[in-house]
Amino acid sequence: MKNKKPKSAIIIGSGLGGLSTALRLSTEGYDVTVIEKHSKPGGRLNQLKLDGFTFDVGPSFMSMSWELEELFKSNGLKNPIQLEELDPLYQVYFEGENKPYRIWKTLHNLEEEFKDIEPNLAAKVEKYLSRAGEFFHDTEDKVVKSNYANVVDYILKLTRVPLKHLPYLFRNMWSEVEKNFESEQVRVIFSLVAFFLGSTPFHTPAIYSLLNYTEMKHDGYWKVKGGMYKIVEELMKILESRGVKFVFNTEIVGVANSNGKLNSLLDRNGKTWSADIFISNSDAASFRGQILGRKKFTEQKLDNMDWTLAPFTIY
Ligand SMILES: Cc1cc2nc3c(=O)[nH]c(=O)nc-3n(C[C@H](O)[C@H](O)[C@H](O)COP(=O)(O)OP(=O)(O)OC[C@H]3O[C@@H](n4cnc5c(N)ncnc54)[C@H](O)[C@@H]3O)c2cc1C
Repeated sequence: MKNKKPKSAIIIGSGLGGLSTALRLSTEGYDVTVIEKHSKPGGRLNQLKLDGFTFDVGPSFMSMSWELEELFKSNGLKNPIQLEELDPLYQVYFEGENKPYRIWKTLHNLEEEFKDIEPNLAAKVEKYLSRAGEFFHDTEDKVVKSNYANVVDYILKLTRVPLKHLPYLFRNMWSEVEKNFESEQVRVIFSLVAFFLGSTPFHTPAIYSLLNYTEMKHDGYWKVKGGMYKIVEELMKILESRGVKFVFNTEIVGVANSNGKLNSLLDRNGKTWSADIFISNSDAASFRGQILGRKKFTEQKLDNMDWTLAPFTIY
């Protein structure tokens, strides 16, 4: 039998999305090349070394940790990342108050923390989270983890969600927390998840209380032993051992098409890159406009859209 030449794949970007796609494609037998415009991998999950200290920049903790487990397991690997569960999950400071509130996953600790301002908090949280948890489990496979080909596809998938959850779609996060809690502080704390989405509790539908459920009940938050960048380092070790090629300091700026099919990529230095398949890990909207030249995504049109907030974090 003749040996078949493996199919080749080029991935634009070495963020977590690019690295995990490289892992999955290498398992499928592809000859993979990752092209990254910066000098090191990781994208937004990155690291800063300064004066003998090492800082994670970008993400600081993980939720839904089973997804990380799945990534390694489905590629025939043992998960090399060690996680430690956080409890308290985080602290919240209010202007003008001299002590922060610790947000405990353990409910009796949480009740104790807020006993002066919100009596019986454990029972209230149980009720709130059991409603959010029901919604999460009724939608996880049908909606949350689904791909949508278009708006009609999205609406069709929504129709598979039990009708009892309909009110969640028409209420915002703020009215949901107002219904369940009395103190301003607890309401603010439970609606903070809206900011993860780059929105506000007044503009975010109550369905996102499912994030309260994932953080406080289902899986919680986990820190990575050795820092978040360890995930990138471990993935790089595996990918390099599998022969995945990395090209840094190289920005893709254009494409060449023929008969509506993408044939090759063009980098900033004028070099062309060919492969059987191409995957972009770059921001989808700007990639469609700047690289694919789609008229719906010109810079002017993107500037006129409402974009979510980016967090500004000081360490
Ligand atoms: C401050 C901050 C805090 C966060 N906190 C958390 C957290 O606690 N928990 C959590 O789960 N998530 C958190 N996130 C979100 C998380 O970091 C991102 O969702 C995730 O890292 C995105 O990965 P990605 O692979 O999709 O994209 P990116 O990391 O953006 O990777 C895209 C890569 O493509 C490269 N690229 C783009 N265009 C080109 C081109 N034309 N040519 C070549 N290369 C290109 C980029 O340089 C980049 O390396 C946080 C994000 C930020 C910014």
